[in-house]
Amino acid sequence: MPIRALPDLLINQIAAGEVVERPASVVKEVVENAIDAGARRIDIELEEGGIRLIRVRDDGGGIAPEELRLAVSRHATSKIASLDDLESVCTLGFRGEALPSIAAVSRFALTSRPTDAGHGARLEIDGGRGGDIAPHPHPPGTTVEVRELFFNVPARRRFLKSERTELGHVEEWIRCLALARPEVEIRLVHNGRQTRHYRPARDPAARLARVAEALGGEFGGACLALEQSTADELRLSGWIGLPTASRSSADQQYLFVNGRVVRDRTIGHAIRQAYADVLYHGRHPAYVLFLELDPRRVDVNVHPAKHEVRFRDARRLHDFVYRTLSEALGATRAGLATAAAA
Ligand code: ADP
Ligand code: MG
Repeated sequence: MPIRALPDLLINQIAAGEVVERPASVVKEVVENAIDAGARRIDIELEEGGIRLIRVRDDGGGIAPEELRLAVSRHATSKIASLDDLESVCTLGFRGEALPSIAAVSRFALTSRPTDAGHGARLEIDGGRGGDIAPHPHPPGTTVEVRELFFNVPARRRFLKSERTELGHVEEWIRCLALARPEVEIRLVHNGRQTRHYRPARDPAARLARVAEALGGEFGGACLALEQSTADELRLSGWIGLPTASRSSADQQYLFVNGRVVRDRTIGHAIRQAYADVLYHGRHPAYVLFLELDPRRVDVNVHPAKHEVRFRDARRLHDFVYRTLSEALGATRAGLATAAAA
């Protein structure tokens, strides 16, 4: 075959392969956009585990009608403009890939009204084709609708699991986002029934209640609050489960780096090591931890789905996390010993 440039639609479908794996990845991308837009309230509606419909409405800053088409263009973003911006990026998105990818593999609609505009507009794209814009009533904010995910990519569609399984994946992402942004109200409706409602939490007690709701009752009553920072602005806060609340699998381990949920081997290792003396072999700690550091010290541009990050100074971070957790856990052991002696 001769060499040729691929058409845009095919490029977007290839990119969708990396960003859009299942309904949960659509929900993740769209809800992250809502958060980046400053939403205080996010409503998520699903039908059939999101396979038939995903509708996400937010009350964020909205998109001007003349920018709707750009929002679904590849590598178009309002979040960074230079390499310098990329290196200090604080938003969840920055690649300008999610919406064009999603729109290439679904029946897609984007309806939005900027906070200061008198009316809204709607853009519809069907499997990457179309793109007409028409005025449309909408309160300030944005609604994204994604119907029949992968209807035009049968190979992908076949990989989707049952409605229940897909719903479970969506709920897990919503749980992550609910933990990451306690101040944002999040509602989930599935097949017409409300299945989750995370109310905004503004003080520490309400935040812990929200964590307990997300993780299940047990954790809230068996965890330690933690907060530690260094002179050079490393900060670790959150809640770690007491050894008595350990689990048989690593299913309740949430780590957020500058508000982004990530899986990180270095920090995971530091945490395991801190628990090594207080947990039986084969048991796993539960935790919800927030690590904050200068965005210049962490590279988030490692993978399109952004589940991984790279730290400039991994060794130091490891020590910081290990020390902070060991001290907190050591203090409980000392406390227990005193209580037993009394
Ligand atoms: P990215 O988030 O990486 O910028 P996306 O494809 O997810 O790329 O979105 C493209 C652009 O569309 C964003 O940069 C933003 O300007 C706009 N946008 C998307 N969703 C929303 C939303 N819910 N509210 C306001 N603007 C949005
Ligand atoms: Mg995005």
